[in-house]
Amino acid sequence: MRFSTLFAPTTKEAPKDAILPSHIYLVRGGFVSQIGSGIYNFLPLGKMVLDKIKTVVKEEMDKSSAQETQLGFVTPSELWKESGRYHKFGKELLRFTDRKENEFVLGPTHEEAMVDLVRSRVKSYKQLPLHLYQINTKFRDEARPRYGLLRGREFLMKDGYSFHEDSQDLEREFIQMEKTYGQILDRLGLEYRVVEADSGAIGGSGSKELMVLADNGEDDIVVCDSCDYAANIEAAKRAGKPIDTQNLEMSAGDFHTPDVTTIDALSVFFKVDSTSTVKAVVKKAIYEESEELVIFFICGDSELQETKAQSLCQAIELVDVDAETLKQKGIVAGFIGPEIKDVTCFVDVELKDRENLICGANKVDYHTVGYSFKDKDFTFADLITVEEDDTCSCCGGILKITKGIEVGHIFQLGDTYSKALNATFLDRNGKAQPYVMGTYGIGVSRLVAVVIEQHHDEKGCLWTPETSPFALTIIVSNIKDEAQRTFAESLYAQLKAVGMNVLLDDRGERFGFKMKDFELLGFPKAVIVGKGLVEGEVQIVDRKTLEKQTVSKDEIFQKLMDK
Ligand code: ATP
Ligand code: MG
Repeated sequence: MRFSTLFAPTTKEAPKDAILPSHIYLVRGGFVSQIGSGIYNFLPLGKMVLDKIKTVVKEEMDKSSAQETQLGFVTPSELWKESGRYHKFGKELLRFTDRKENEFVLGPTHEEAMVDLVRSRVKSYKQLPLHLYQINTKFRDEARPRYGLLRGREFLMKDGYSFHEDSQDLEREFIQMEKTYGQILDRLGLEYRVVEADSGAIGGSGSKELMVLADNGEDDIVVCDSCDYAANIEAAKRAGKPIDTQNLEMSAGDFHTPDVTTIDALSVFFKVDSTSTVKAVVKKAIYEESEELVIFFICGDSELQETKAQSLCQAIELVDVDAETLKQKGIVAGFIGPEIKDVTCFVDVELKDRENLICGANKVDYHTVGYSFKDKDFTFADLITVEEDDTCSCCGGILKITKGIEVGHIFQLGDTYSKALNATFLDRNGKAQPYVMGTYGIGVSRLVAVVIEQHHDEKGCLWTPETSPFALTIIVSNIKDEAQRTFAESLYAQLKAVGMNVLLDDRGERFGFKMKDFELLGFPKAVIVGKGLVEGEVQIVDRKTLEKQTVSKDEIFQKLMDK
């Protein structure tokens, strides 16, 4: 490819709202351009990277025996109503009607469509297992599309769906997919962790995310410093802290605690550690057709993990509650305790066997001393947020928190969708059973940005070998110099002839300008054909280190081939 004919409009200006390196460099380098909120065009260089990633994903998926399909991006609403997700999915689902008043959605994910494709065609266990995938556009009307390709509204995803006769076979496929996703990320040159994820309201243990480590990641991931435990903060567990039950100086009962409405004030008031206090967090749980106030009780030194809380009460959303609403319900803010009447309560499991606690007394200016959760009839569950330096529940090691970007999510779904969509097969005993399903997604367009988030410097992109649009740029220092031009042209032809993906920078621009583009675009290597040619020399520049190496013009071809 010749740079003089390549449509790669590089610029010095970054988009006003761009704060992340991947967003800035991909736009400045002319890889992508924004056409609407969360919607991007791929220019030739961006499309080359996208296709390279697609190819790696496809090759690894095909190797694992999954079969590629392509489903309609526009999906009839009917199917979404059948599964019950039409209303549940919320505003991220873009719904519209056609000229005949038929309702449709723009597919944000394709469980329904894929189950529909399979249900009338796979009728016997003999046709299972089956794994179908596609690499296709998705649309999610995200509340806050941001960070360029990292969180778009329209984006490219590889989504796969597997169908099995039982959960053992699903588990086998799940392990296979974890391996496949790992191979994809290895080939792309990305450092990542496989972490335990929140399974949402569907429940089940088999949900893992593939997180690429990046300082600017949106996700907090918890990793153990001594074993290989890793989890998304939303799902992370810790070993309960050994707590010495403090001997309170006062006897059990309700105490007058005027204006003591925070955990800190309570600790000071009773001269106890916050681990001896109970914190109440009130939320409004929003369900499909109703809503209710719920209270979560956790140890005073801990924070509520909202995703865990939301999964526990199976709400679509948990929202904060204002003082006025609390008042109307007769809930006394600042003095809420577990003995409250007529409100659904959940208690963190670490409090289960605790005694001698201090909690709200459900009346203004009073707290209860000497409270115990022992033998109480609450729903106990893991509700806390793991913090840095907590203890690992697997090995006793120390937990650390790092930043990551979710690039893939693999999920043992079970029969939720097949049941809802009445999709069954005849098992070995001739009995109709819903398929046991897995679903696996990897963000193909997000990966374009993720490569740059993990691989860049202050000058621009640093594409990895499998993702770079070109392996090498030949920069002609002065295109008007006949000798330079002729030599560069012949080297270009030679390298192309052996199948190397080379860009010849033959533009009539200043050398400095072309070097700046080389740094911004981030292809791994350049050969500079410049003034040294009269002495029979050219230079190789490594993009990562920016080190230059002088090489004889007669040896350059062989040198590049050796590498
Ligand atoms: P996130 O937590 O980042 O919103 P998600 O959990 O909603 O993602 P999944 O439904 O698991 O995402 O989708 C599978 C993959 O699709 C994700 O791992 C991610 O790589 C990609 N993806 C999801 N949402 C977006 C988006 N808005 N823009 C680009 N890629 C996305
Ligand atoms: Mg996910």
